[in-house]
Amino acid sequence: KKMVYAFAEGNAKMKALLGGKGANLAEMTRSGLPVPPGFTITTEACHAFFQSSNRIPDHLMEQIQLDLHRLEEDTNQKFGDSSCPLLVSVRSGSVSSMPGMMDTILNLGLNDDTVKGLAALTGNERFAYDCYRRLIQMFGNVVLGIESFRFEILLHKMMKNSGAGQDQEVTVEGWRSLIEDYKRCVKTNAGREFPQDVHEQLKLAIEAVFKSWNNHRAQIYRKIHHIPDAQGTAVNIQSMVFGNKGDDCGTGVVFTRNPSTGDGELFGEYLVNAQGEDVVSGVRTPQSIETLKDVMPNIYDQLVQVCKKLEQHYRDMQDIEFTVENGKLYVLQTRSGKRNAQAALKLAVEFVKEGVISREDALLRIEAFHLDQLLHRGIDESKDLEVLATGLPASPGAAIGVAVFDADTAADWSRAGKQVILVRPETTPEDIHGVLVSEGVLTSRGGMTSHAAVVARGMGKPCVCGCESVRIDVEGRRMFAGERVIEEGDWITLDGASGRVIMGTVPLREAAMTTELREILEWADDIRKLRVYANADNPEDANTARGFGAEGIGLCRTEHMFFAPERLAAMQRMIMAETVDERKAALDQLLPMQQSDFEGIFHAMDGLPVTIRLLDPPLHEFLPNTAELQRKLEDAESTAEKALLKRMIRKVHELHESNPMLGQRGCRLGIVYPEIYDMQIEAIFKAASACMDKGISVLPEIMIPLVGHAAELQRLRELVDRAAEQEFPADKKRDCKYKVGTMIEVPRAALTARQIAAHADFFSFGTNDLTQMTFGYSRDDAEGKFLTHYMDQKVLPHNPFQVLDSEGVGQLIELAVAAGRSLKPTLKTGLCGEHGGEKMSIAFCHETGLDYVSCSPYRIPLARIAAAQAAI
Ligand code: ADP
Ligand code: MG
Ligand code: MG
Repeated sequence: KKMVYAFAEGNAKMKALLGGKGANLAEMTRSGLPVPPGFTITTEACHAFFQSSNRIPDHLMEQIQLDLHRLEEDTNQKFGDSSCPLLVSVRSGSVSSMPGMMDTILNLGLNDDTVKGLAALTGNERFAYDCYRRLIQMFGNVVLGIESFRFEILLHKMMKNSGAGQDQEVTVEGWRSLIEDYKRCVKTNAGREFPQDVHEQLKLAIEAVFKSWNNHRAQIYRKIHHIPDAQGTAVNIQSMVFGNKGDDCGTGVVFTRNPSTGDGELFGEYLVNAQGEDVVSGVRTPQSIETLKDVMPNIYDQLVQVCKKLEQHYRDMQDIEFTVENGKLYVLQTRSGKRNAQAALKLAVEFVKEGVISREDALLRIEAFHLDQLLHRGIDESKDLEVLATGLPASPGAAIGVAVFDADTAADWSRAGKQVILVRPETTPEDIHGVLVSEGVLTSRGGMTSHAAVVARGMGKPCVCGCESVRIDVEGRRMFAGERVIEEGDWITLDGASGRVIMGTVPLREAAMTTELREILEWADDIRKLRVYANADNPEDANTARGFGAEGIGLCRTEHMFFAPERLAAMQRMIMAETVDERKAALDQLLPMQQSDFEGIFHAMDGLPVTIRLLDPPLHEFLPNTAELQRKLEDAESTAEKALLKRMIRKVHELHESNPMLGQRGCRLGIVYPEIYDMQIEAIFKAASACMDKGISVLPEIMIPLVGHAAELQRLRELVDRAAEQEFPADKKRDCKYKVGTMIEVPRAALTARQIAAHADFFSFGTNDLTQMTFGYSRDDAEGKFLTHYMDQKVLPHNPFQVLDSEGVGQLIELAVAAGRSLKPTLKTGLCGEHGGEKMSIAFCHETGLDYVSCSPYRIPLARIAAAQAAI
């Protein structure tokens, strides 16, 4: 099997086999760019190496020798030859770019003998010994595992003794004596001599590069970027060119455009008389690339041409490594340049305008994290930060505020004009008013889809959750992070994109819908088939959503309207009611509040559909917990208050369920206590009516949660239709084209979708609950516990609460859509739930032919782009 390819034999499409660097070196060689010759050992060879328990198999070694021989012929040099030695670099090159994660060795092929040959051949002794000392250091570090600082110390000592300020000033004697020091250093630290046999050098170097695939930092990097461990790395052997031969030599890195702004000028750095590693390692401060225009005008012009050519060829901004040897330019690497969000969008738009790529290509290049970065305020990374702890990056953006340890304090302090950050062990729906007024939320427990995270994301608020290394003392109103104690009122900063908790305040940069983003979103809108709705529970969110391009509301959770303090009291009275009349009286108080919310939302969504879900959570969520009530009872003074508290405690016990998520909630509540749904429906229609009087076009879609049997929906639909008769005079009823539908979130509903469709105008897949019930995972328990292990051990490919499980849950969706439409071809279908803002899940919705996805307002731009990407 062929496991070694000369550069001239490969091309850019062979990335999987040759690695990114190797494939691009081959491509550049083919297109006639000045690339020093060499060959690539494939990723398959890497696998063979691991399979032979980290040994290079004989047949592979033979192939390498053959190609090395060809290289000797091409260059007219000989590996290990004392008069005309061939020197090579041994460079790692993985399939997905992993900058700086793996190892490279330069100047391989030098020993006590060949270094003399190199000196004689070039007439430049100083240069030859400079190369030799570099080889010993890199080889010692990469192959023999000796820490770099051991060499650095020796280098500095020698420079100090000889009075050299910079390494160009070191004389040949200096390098010679350093080489002796280095050799001793190798002997002491590695227990062996630096190998004088060049073939042994080569073999050991190749082995080391293969092994570097499994070094710690490479493993971590792969995990973060979802790069499969099985990919392996290729190894490139390339004849050396020298930027350290004199003043007509140099080395540098150039981006074809500015990677942080997307502007069109070249961006980069170089060093005269230096070798590649010097630029990045920081031993010398490089010059900015513009100055090369004056220093080496010819080379600069050539470089500009090379940049143009590569950019055109790869149709993307390139990150190029080059070296100049005695006035001749060589290109050593090219790859698509990493860029920040702003630059990514700008470049995409520019390339379309320049006719380099199509709009579709541009859209495909936009990544979710680009939008995450753009649409949230972020930390200004140029400043020094004291990171207290790192939790899960649950909701991107940066938040600065003083720490508070309960929701009421958050509300009080924020009313007093303070910026607060809510810090809790975990959050419950009762904390929502605290979340609402906070700049951001920090919890020590809970996963990426924990309540705190979901709510915060929905509001576009930064959130760090599951930050287990901080200890929160709610009673003592403080938090411990390592040595630090943060008291209530101390300033902290959260970075929801990285999960960092930072001491004090740090400067932020603002978020923005840039003109480029608007333009790209318009292209996306032309292409996509899926509509994009928003999950929004109040007029403010509805307005934000519309600003981001929402085409309706797919989920308005009415329970969130009940958590404001004055409403919660009425809600609690309703729950505590002993008789239907008492309950109705309490509901009468809630009605105008709900109505005004709905009016605000209808107003914001003038002309667009608004899907309102009737009350869903179990009632106990609206009552305080028993411990809190007991405490209040002890403090209570009046007998009336005591009596009330006692009743509340009794009620809490009464409502207690061992499985609240599978208990009395959703439509089950509506059937047992129809008064609640009656009130909500009345509020919806009254609001609709009032808005229609103002000339607003209202499209209410009433959604019944948790239906599992057609009879449930049938009954509740009657409730809605009856209310419509009552609320609207005949002409108005005609104008208000309301719909009634259901969430499909119980597996039985999906399985009996045809029967359910008989009573539904639309299906909305509530994939949070549907995932929970299909897997049988309690979401709140799964994330902090076994699900993390499942991810680590790769039992599941993704967290199914983040990425829709298309195989299982998806099958239920497909089935329900088909069955529903078989009865009602025009049945409207959509998905609400966390998955509606996730790229792969959106692609699934597109494939399945849903009409829309609904996601939180800040995810809408992402959803519009993901929907277009799915349609391309
Ligand atoms: P990394 O992946 O860390 O960038 P590279 O394999 O690209 O590692 O090598 C690092 C640097 O070494 C390159 O930027 C280049 O300047 C220098 N280099 C690599 N191969 C050669 C070569 N054949 N001749 C001269 N310099 C080289
Ligand atoms: Mg490189
Ligand atoms: Mg649900």
